[in-house]
Amino acid sequence: SSVFANLPRAPEDPILGVTVAYNKDPSPVKLNLGVGAYRTEEGKPLVLNVVRQAEKLLVNDRSRVKEYLPIVGLADFNKLSAKLILGADSPAILGNLVTTVQCLSGTGSLRVGAEFLARHYYQRTIYIPNPTWGNHGKIFTLAGLTVKTYRYYDPVTRGLNIQGLLEDLGSAPSGAIVLLHACAHNPTGVDPTLEQWEQIRRLMRSKRLLPFFDSAYQGFASGSLDEDAKSVRMFVADGGECFIAQSYAKNMGLYGERVGALSIVCKTADVATRVESQLKLVIRPMYSNPPIHGASIVSTILKDRNLYQEWTLELKAMADRIITMRKQLFDALRARGTPGDWSHIIKQIGMFTFTGLNTKQVAFMTREYHIYMTSDGRISMAGLSSRTVPHLADAIHAAVT
Ligand code: PLP
Repeated sequence: SSVFANLPRAPEDPILGVTVAYNKDPSPVKLNLGVGAYRTEEGKPLVLNVVRQAEKLLVNDRSRVKEYLPIVGLADFNKLSAKLILGADSPAILGNLVTTVQCLSGTGSLRVGAEFLARHYYQRTIYIPNPTWGNHGKIFTLAGLTVKTYRYYDPVTRGLNIQGLLEDLGSAPSGAIVLLHACAHNPTGVDPTLEQWEQIRRLMRSKRLLPFFDSAYQGFASGSLDEDAKSVRMFVADGGECFIAQSYAKNMGLYGERVGALSIVCKTADVATRVESQLKLVIRPMYSNPPIHGASIVSTILKDRNLYQEWTLELKAMADRIITMRKQLFDALRARGTPGDWSHIIKQIGMFTFTGLNTKQVAFMTREYHIYMTSDGRISMAGLSSRTVPHLADAIHAAVT
């Protein structure tokens, strides 16, 4: 018999499992609002026009070879990624205080940062928001950090629990790491205001808490790359240390190419180079070096004025379509007289709406309406279209009445 005869079956991933269930459903009206990937008005995946153009340039360039990248990835890509999140005129970049390494999308960047911290940082506790992206806790735990949560979302107001957040970070041990969503908090769609970010920053710096930003949606929240980077830039402007994990999955639609970057902002240029030397020791035994294609696409776009400009327009169009879907869903519920205050649908930002629907209501909508979403009631606005909004509104109406 098999040496794995007694191997227990592992549960399906709670987010990716939604798609597995969706794929099995033969209904023609089925709707997948579980996965965080952008869809067009026709419900199709989107490859950005600038990505197609960049790929054409890459394919036609006969000087390009398939040699290994360095352990830290493509040098251009790293520089341009730091510039994108920190701003071209960032003193941290001008002072060579930043070390950036290309990693396997957002997830890989978080994991490499976490492994580095577990090995070299004196404080092993990381605070993550409650709730947060389901993978955060596992990434940090497996890297060897101790994961605690801080209050974030208030189910009553369906907004930020700033009081609870400040209390919890205020009682965290000095030096603790704090995971912050740079913008478009997943799953709640609730972000601090700039004034609240300033309160958080002041508290964290006074307690020497170490910020670790997860930036998976730059440009996706507001439609502006600079606007969505403001939280990060506030923390870098004060001269303190800062970790940033960037993903190009959503904002360039490069999901499966696995392109991302980890930047660590240090206090001196010398420390930054030593940090980089240690990052290499983290990466080498994990996967040796990152893949070349996706990073080449990103750097081709970021370094070409015209492609960059066109990218910002395509990005804005995606963000605007999501904002339009919020408005349409809100209007559709109002038109049906659905009981409850649904204004959070238009107040929340980014890819997701945290509907407030409970597990039972979600199960009802899946069973009766073939609508798939995570059991916490999170729906991907990017998976909706003008055509499917009425079906969703009918389902929500039926679920709550
Ligand atoms: N962080 C957050 C908050 C996310 O929502 C996601 C993706 O859904 C990621 C990180 C990582 O995504 P990826 O590894 O595909 O870049």
